[in-house]
Amino acid sequence: MAGKPRVGVLALQGDVREHVRVLTGLGAEASLVRRPADLAAVDGLVLPGGESSVIDKLSRAFGMQQPIRDAIAGGLPVYGTCAGLILLADRISNPIDGQESFGGLDVTVQRNAFGGQVESFETDLEVPVLGSPPVHAAFIRAPLVTQTGPGVEVLADLPDGGVVAVRQGNLLGTAFHPEVTGDHRFHELFLRIVGEAASAR
Ligand code: GLN
Repeated sequence: MAGKPRVGVLALQGDVREHVRVLTGLGAEASLVRRPADLAAVDGLVLPGGESSVIDKLSRAFGMQQPIRDAIAGGLPVYGTCAGLILLADRISNPIDGQESFGGLDVTVQRNAFGGQVESFETDLEVPVLGSPPVHAAFIRAPLVTQTGPGVEVLADLPDGGVVAVRQGNLLGTAFHPEVTGDHRFHELFLRIVGEAASAR
């Protein structure tokens, strides 16, 4: 593709800056997406971690739900981390009242799946598509993928088999936050997906 990949970060709530910093560091042109026109100007979109029900509500208030759904249906590459993964999921097993997602990823997610006393933890994850070493992953009130459709590739799971990273075509989702632990291989993978999608257009 000609020039830098243009990647937007949905900037309604959540850890937007961390993603912008990583994307910029990897040579992408990162921008904040709040309006439909912002979305029209990017080759890929990151849905950050934060609170999925709040991002859902704000996306509807800002008239962004339908444009994002249309963009996903049109093949825009989207990477969701944590709350962003919840927003990409077709099904949420325990939504708050009225909570919706953008959907696109044929998975069911359970929010706050590691809830209770130990809500956050870090661990080293084997991610075969990224090679070695393992990815050091931070789980912060994280969701779990509890069911995957036939087109979904599982990229990583926990020792107990819980699925925490998935890909389906141009959609990538992780239950954890690579943007905070300094390992940028998931963002690099996403930029490759963005580059391939842009040159295929
Ligand atoms: N528990 C949050 C939610 O349900 C996600 C937490 C996160 O993004 N770190 O949206």
